[in-house]
Amino acid sequence: MASGALAVHDLSVSYGKAVQALRRVTLEVPEGAVTAVLGANGAGKTTLLRAISGTLSFHRGSVDEGTITLGDRPLNGLRPAAVVAAGVVQVPEGRRVFGRLSVEENLKAGALGAPDRSGTATSRERVLELFPVLAERAKQRAGLLSGGEQQMLAIGRALMARPKVLLLDEPTLGLAPLMAERISETIIEINRQGTSVLLIEQNAALALELATTAHVLEVGAVTLHGDAAELADSDEVRRRYLGMTHEDDAVRLERPPTLEKWTA
Ligand code: ATP
Repeated sequence: MASGALAVHDLSVSYGKAVQALRRVTLEVPEGAVTAVLGANGAGKTTLLRAISGTLSFHRGSVDEGTITLGDRPLNGLRPAAVVAAGVVQVPEGRRVFGRLSVEENLKAGALGAPDRSGTATSRERVLELFPVLAERAKQRAGLLSGGEQQMLAIGRALMARPKVLLLDEPTLGLAPLMAERISETIIEINRQGTSVLLIEQNAALALELATTAHVLEVGAVTLHGDAAELADSDEVRRRYLGMTHEDDAVRLERPPTLEKWTA
């Protein structure tokens, strides 16, 4: 295992000891990589993120077996703030921001999770470079931003904690294609700057475009995993998750796919 890798090994999770949501899930986010987890509604994607971020107990869920580690450090059983302090930060689903606070105050709140105060100004600069609109709206209440801008703020707030690994739960869900494209480009840039990413997505085309490796979750278990480009080219994934076959290529080649097409 790489030194800073986030590794989930044989993880089983249940809710209220009745619903088994994950069954012996194993996956890794190598240092510097983007790993995607794909799956339909109810497959267990959000549960996986809750287990990693230490928030399962808020939903009456618990880890029944397995381990979660960042490098050599076990994350199982840590409180959410300790997971953040260890360097693993989740952007919550549904682009939740503090609606009554200003953009600036939301970013300050994110910085509370940083390992120390000394890098706050640099993190802020980095976030505003990634999302210039947040600088323009610094004093505005976050609740008044558009959906896409709130997603940018949610990602920006998470980056203020200076994560080693960013956990993203369907970051483009419900966004217009152009905004989804901008968010996707920013995820690539965040990763290029050195942050590893665990990307949870229902949109298989988008996830396979952004990720290095991918895992398919079905009813709580990993049924397929591998190199994202190879999965995107496999007949089974194309048929079941991308809604296309190799015969469709003849048509597609006339118009090369754009990111907008992937996210539409
Ligand atoms: P979606 O894309 O719809 O959010 P998902 O892949 O994220 O789906 P989860 O939300 O992780 O799936 O749900 C996995 C399973 O666990 C489902 O059967 C779901 O009904 C169940 N589940 C999720 N949260 C709870 C909870 N708090 N209590 C009981 N069961 C739950």
